[in-house]
Amino acid sequence: MNCEEANRLLDAYLDRELDLRRRLELEQHLSLCLSCQSLAQELEEFRLLFMASAQTLKAPPQLRANVLSAVRRARAKHSSALLRQPWVFAAAVVVLGFFLALNILLPDAGGELSHQAVSRHFRSLTPDHPVDVASANPQVVKSWLASKLDFAPPVVGSPASGYSLLGGRVDVIQNRSVAALIYKRNNDVVTLFCWPPKKERLSNRNHFIEGYHVRTWSNAECNYIVVSKLSNSEMDEFMDSFRVHVQSGAYF
Ligand SMILES: [Zn+2]
Repeated sequence: MNCEEANRLLDAYLDRELDLRRRLELEQHLSLCLSCQSLAQELEEFRLLFMASAQTLKAPPQLRANVLSAVRRARAKHSSALLRQPWVFAAAVVVLGFFLALNILLPDAGGELSHQAVSRHFRSLTPDHPVDVASANPQVVKSWLASKLDFAPPVVGSPASGYSLLGGRVDVIQNRSVAALIYKRNNDVVTLFCWPPKKERLSNRNHFIEGYHVRTWSNAECNYIVVSKLSNSEMDEFMDSFRVHVQSGAYF
């Protein structure tokens, strides 16, 4: 995807209207292209500003009732006409089969692992012991983790402005030892879990679990899960900059 195409898709992307394939292509471009990234950020800021300052007017109750009942009537008519078509049942069987197959092949797709990641993140905060090795030096954290694990995770010192590395710890997700990197910005703690993908690679997903935002993604080196109470846009910023660091080799 080039910049021109990316710019054309940005509005739809920010309105969450892109299909999965387009969204992934665009995110791939954004992760590499700083100028499109900053354009996306500008658009998002404008959107937020616009939404915050837009006046909302309440429809009079009668108008609201009329519109809703017209919509309901149209929907009922449409679905009963649709259900009379035999191909709908055939299609439904195919779709159902597809989802069953998908569920067997990808039992998790990030959801269960994300729940575990949230509970590990939460548990690490309660006794106030988020790190096993406390250091802001990525090299120190990386060699400590590499000595405890059978892999060496990529460690970025300061993935985005304002974030500093508190240290790392070895944690457990789905019965396997994983690296956890802990970052802090003001009062926010961000935990980034990372482990090498064997068969199952995590796809790009967002979750909101028990008040925490979760992002999952993967590259050839690691499956990643990020957990924190940052806002959605701050999470995206954190994750995007971390990815840019890793992709451009700016890590230990
Ligand atoms: Zn671009």
